[in-house]
Amino acid sequence: MLPRILTKRTIKDAHNLRFCLRQLTTAGARTSSIKNNTRKYAAPNGVNHSPRNRVREFSTSHVGLKSTEIPFDKLKEDQKEVMTEDRAVDKVDVCIVGGGPAGLATAIKLKQLDGTYGTGELRVVVLEKSPDVGSHMVSGVIMEPRALRELFPESEYYDENGNGIPLPPDLVTPVTSGELKYLIGDLDIPVPEPPQMSNEGNYIGSLSQIVRHLSEKAEEVGVEIFPGISVSEVLYGDDGKSVVGVATKDMGITKQGTPKSSFERGMEFHARQTVFAEGCHGSLTKQLIKKFNLRKDKCAQTYGLGIKEVWEVKPENFKKGFATHTMGYPLSNDVYGGGFMYHFGDGLVAVGLVVGLDYRNPYVSPYQEFQKMKHHPYYKNVLSGGKCLEYGARALNEGGLQSVPKLNFPGGLLVGASAGFMNVPKIKGTHTAMKTGLLAAESIFEFISKLPPLESIEEELDESLMVSPINLESYDKSFKNSWVFDELYAVRNIRPSFNHPVLGRLGGMAYSGLDSMLLNGQVAWTFKHHESDASITEAAEKYEPIDYPKPDGEISFDILTSVSRTGTYHDEDERCHLRVPDQDLTKHANRAYPKWKGIENRFCPAGVYEYVADENSELGVKFQINSQNCIHCKTCDIKDPTQDINWEVPEGGDGPKYTLT
Ligand SMILES: Cc1cc2nc3c(=O)[nH]c(=O)nc-3n(C[C@H](O)[C@H](O)[C@H](O)COP(=O)(O)OP(=O)(O)OC[C@H]3O[C@@H](n4cnc5c(N)ncnc54)[C@H](O)[C@@H]3O)c2cc1C
Ligand code: SF4
Repeated sequence: MLPRILTKRTIKDAHNLRFCLRQLTTAGARTSSIKNNTRKYAAPNGVNHSPRNRVREFSTSHVGLKSTEIPFDKLKEDQKEVMTEDRAVDKVDVCIVGGGPAGLATAIKLKQLDGTYGTGELRVVVLEKSPDVGSHMVSGVIMEPRALRELFPESEYYDENGNGIPLPPDLVTPVTSGELKYLIGDLDIPVPEPPQMSNEGNYIGSLSQIVRHLSEKAEEVGVEIFPGISVSEVLYGDDGKSVVGVATKDMGITKQGTPKSSFERGMEFHARQTVFAEGCHGSLTKQLIKKFNLRKDKCAQTYGLGIKEVWEVKPENFKKGFATHTMGYPLSNDVYGGGFMYHFGDGLVAVGLVVGLDYRNPYVSPYQEFQKMKHHPYYKNVLSGGKCLEYGARALNEGGLQSVPKLNFPGGLLVGASAGFMNVPKIKGTHTAMKTGLLAAESIFEFISKLPPLESIEEELDESLMVSPINLESYDKSFKNSWVFDELYAVRNIRPSFNHPVLGRLGGMAYSGLDSMLLNGQVAWTFKHHESDASITEAAEKYEPIDYPKPDGEISFDILTSVSRTGTYHDEDERCHLRVPDQDLTKHANRAYPKWKGIENRFCPAGVYEYVADENSELGVKFQINSQNCIHCKTCDIKDPTQDINWEVPEGGDGPKYTLT
């Protein structure tokens, strides 16, 4: 069915109105739900007194063996009709999926170029699933200012010599000191800091807040930003070989899969170029990598899960600008990862743990490891007497250069963590994500600025000009000539050396020390990665269950208390966005439970997956998905050994509402 074509003016007004209404509706729903949730809260063990810190009864879905969903072909005819209505179409020059550092850098640079060299009329749209831009950000974050400085060569925030970071001083704290420690028993042993980990000239902040500021800068230059909009579908041209845009998710579908009275069909954005800036393991990027075979001759991507809290600590424990990293405790030698603690702002401390998702033992729980870590005196001495304000978790890329896929395909590009430019030894990916956004913007503008303006095409209704696919090889090339490539090339062997079949774990650690301190990657070889983090997971029978300590409610917390600190919201009567085949939970449990004994429950940092004891079932347990707890970290999609959990984007505006992470 052909989409309804509207004129640019009508569509722009229509969609602005529609999006405003939708945002208001979402905000309204959210406010009333927060009010309702307040009634549900119960104060746990005398801690957490603010509404944000009270326990919400998150796990409320019914234990179900079979899906209660009605398959689409079994819906009533009028329901099918409303759900397949034509979608409104908007035509833009560039559509960017994801309003994180990469997406916003792409958008700002495009409009800057358009302002200087173009007509100023280029339509650049950013679609972001979080309720407010920035509220799905989880990062350290220590910012390396290089890419930001390239984006804003002039800034009121630079000092008289032109040094500094182009961000308001109340958003960033300069790093003043730091250290690297190896934790063992109750000891913390100093370790020489490899040059890549030096944070001289870097700044600590909250990525949620920094991204919010960037979104304001983007609007100033004319970027159209729509938060609360989930992008659920890639649109392909008639031949199926090129991307012509994206569609946003339908709103208002019940748990059963039927349309609510508030049902609203998604919208199509047709673009000359669609930029995917979804962050690590994007749900659409995953499809594109497969469809265009973008990982041909590259390694599989590997991942870590980063779990983080932001604390307000006692003044005597606060050392503004102090940034520290730890190795060792609580992780066993066969688990890659490390902790961090950054003192920033006004008495705030970000504390976190990154756990490599290539762990083999299915009894490992990254969440519990993090809780355990905070009890080491090195961390506990800082946190004691303080208050945990916020919690968050998010997967990050660890594959490095060998896992970066081809970046361009007909009609679109991958930028930032969607492609995976994380510098793992540095534990930084914001600067590389943003720089790839700048490179993408330059390639796009160079091509698009030579085309007739959208307005004239619409007048002539010449669709072919609009959709003829642009395949920007120049972006892939400029990445290879950029400092991002050089930086990732130098560290390419460090992460895979930990899994090297010949070196072993200790040999790998020795190699990575040598590489960091002396070789700087200037060797003829490039280590490969293992197949995938899911496939490396071994059967539970090879291991003993791990007995993690109970939380004390002061330094460590149970998982639902933590989820309550994310502000997460999904409508309870919403189609489950965590998809297993046929939504048949028993089938999934039968495949997964006997071998991995409930790994889903342990890898999820939000208590979404549960195996509940059930004498009447053959397995002795029933599988349950509490999708309303989901904090969008993407770990299940990555680590599930059966690889049959598919994370789909939920309705726009759903998910966490981070403000400090
Ligand atoms: C615990 C942790 C600590 C880190 N520490 C540091 C650090 O100290 N320094 C540093 O430089 N880097 C750090 N990083 C890495 C850094 O956060 C990432 O490299 C960076 O955020 C990547 O930016 P991005 O824009 O590519 O992706 P993201 O920041 O993930 O942004 C992607 C955006 O796209 C949106 N989105 C995704 N899919 C859709 C969709 N289908 N529809 C609509 N919107 C969508 C998301 O909601 C999100 O807002 C850390 C990461 C973690 C997890
Ligand atoms: S359900 Fe998946 S994406 Fe959601 S919080 Fe759990 S592991 Fe993360």
